[in-house]
Amino acid sequence: MSDEFTHLIPETQEFVQKYAAKAGYRLNENQEILDAVIEGLARNKAIHGKRYCPCRLLSGNSEEDRAKICPCKWHKDEIAHDGMCHCQLYFAK
Ligand code: SF4
Repeated sequence: MSDEFTHLIPETQEFVQKYAAKAGYRLNENQEILDAVIEGLARNKAIHGKRYCPCRLLSGNSEEDRAKICPCKWHKDEIAHDGMCHCQLYFAK
């Protein structure tokens, strides 16, 4: 794992835990997937300055990509319909 974003992992873990608690979701119980998504969010924060969704392509247009900052624009609908968000980070309880 690159050192460029590992320092951001603890705060990213805290962020997703707090958001899940606040929104009434649970996090993926598969630790491997959970860690991979958290790493992706931390990596995007290190590279792009925002916790962009690691499972969506960025356009490079910050206006357009704003919807992809976690928790993204689509997650509530995805969780309501599929029981989980696109990245399988947040799940319905
Ligand atoms: S799909 Fe899930 S992990 Fe990705 S940005 Fe949306 S809420 Fe976050």
